[in-house]
Amino acid sequence: MPPAVYDVVVIGAGPGGSSAAYYNARLGKQVLLLDKATFPRDKTCGDGLTPRALHILDDMGVLAQAEDAGFRVNGISVFARHGATMQAGVPHHPEFHDYLLVVPRLRLDDILRRRAIEQGAQFEGNAKVTRLTADEIGVDIHAEVNGQPVTYRAKVVVAAVGANIGFLREMGLLHYAPRPIVAVRAYYEGLQDLGDHIQAHFEEVPMPGYGWIFPTGPASANIGLGLWRDQANAAGSLRAALARFVASPRLHNLMQAATQVGAIKSYPLRIDFTTSPTFGNRVLLVGESAGLVSPLTGEGIDFALETGKLAAEFLQYCFAADDFSQRAFSGYDRMLRANFQSMFRFLGYLRKVYVNPLLMDRIIKLCERAPDVRQMFVSILMSQQHPAALLQPRILRKVLLGV
Ligand SMILES: Cc1cc2nc3c(=O)[nH]c(=O)nc-3n(C[C@H](O)[C@H](O)[C@H](O)COP(=O)(O)OP(=O)(O)OC[C@H]3O[C@@H](n4cnc5c(N)ncnc54)[C@H](O)[C@@H]3O)c2cc1C
Repeated sequence: MPPAVYDVVVIGAGPGGSSAAYYNARLGKQVLLLDKATFPRDKTCGDGLTPRALHILDDMGVLAQAEDAGFRVNGISVFARHGATMQAGVPHHPEFHDYLLVVPRLRLDDILRRRAIEQGAQFEGNAKVTRLTADEIGVDIHAEVNGQPVTYRAKVVVAAVGANIGFLREMGLLHYAPRPIVAVRAYYEGLQDLGDHIQAHFEEVPMPGYGWIFPTGPASANIGLGLWRDQANAAGSLRAALARFVASPRLHNLMQAATQVGAIKSYPLRIDFTTSPTFGNRVLLVGESAGLVSPLTGEGIDFALETGKLAAEFLQYCFAADDFSQRAFSGYDRMLRANFQSMFRFLGYLRKVYVNPLLMDRIIKLCERAPDVRQMFVSILMSQQHPAALLQPRILRKVLLGV
């Protein structure tokens, strides 16, 4: 029998929601996980998992399954705008794994959702949440389940609806319209000389966007690019921008015998964590619902997984004190700010730096020559190191003087 009142209802079974459901269930809570989709479902993404993401997958006990479902990648190649290139392995880090994975979201999200269920969470698919009404002692979650209206009751809600800005604004959980970024991707097979690195390309892509090639196998990859929406409009369309990218001279050899598999798909991204609300009345926000996607690279799976766990740990205190007030929840905001605020601010600054193609070329050339700078730069790209590390005088001197 389902309980009359759940401890936690989690809305959205992406990485953030499944992580929140898993960790809350692991901490002994009665959890219901809802998603408007039926699973397995795809989520438009580059499918790249940083060592930071692998760390949480390991903690959740699903790293081996993710490895079986994906492709292991051992480094990164960056192609700057005026010909400079850089190749690097995954830097050693005491806490994180020294490789990357590319796992199609169709598989990854189902692995995570199943893990939450194994841990004791209940799951309901085809359950679109339409309204939340909070009162002094709990919250009603109004949903359409298989087209029928259903109301659930919980002490607290975790909202993990990703970039569903419409939902967040209707629920009063977001009070502004974030400047939209859009990204587009397609899967390709029959690629030549793909190698075992993820690739980031800045040629043939409007700045400050970039194109990616993330191998899903020895000769197959997820290929895409991300842009501000107004740039996408200027570029004609996202499809046109992707077509230009895959036809660019640098990709000629790679793509000569390639075939596209499945549809080209695009989806918005939110990178506005520094200004985003992180909670509402009896609601905590995790992952992209709190704008937690790197403004530098567009990766957010790691931050979604991490904040799912942080939300569950934070709620332990709320349950212990039976305090779900806004005052108590401001502690969650402080925790997220302590973990991510300055990192995200700096990632935003760095994004502004690489809009300048000459400066970017200089940094990439320097990375090629100087292993210490390369190591640091790649650690930042993989969210393993705070970007302020680049401000060390010895690094700044090398960047500015090129020595
Ligand atoms: C094209 C593209 C490429 C990207 N590439 C990468 C990458 O390579 N690596 C990386 O780390 N990140 C990447 N990202 C970002 C990454 O996809 C997101 O950061 C990540 O999915 C966020 O996870 P989440 O759990 O917060 O939200 P999501 O994964 O978006 O999950 C949200 C879930 O909520 C459900 N939902 C929404 N509204 C409702 C509702 N009203 N009721 C019930 N359910 C609802 C949705 O069905 C969905 O399942 C990319 C994004 C895009 C668009």
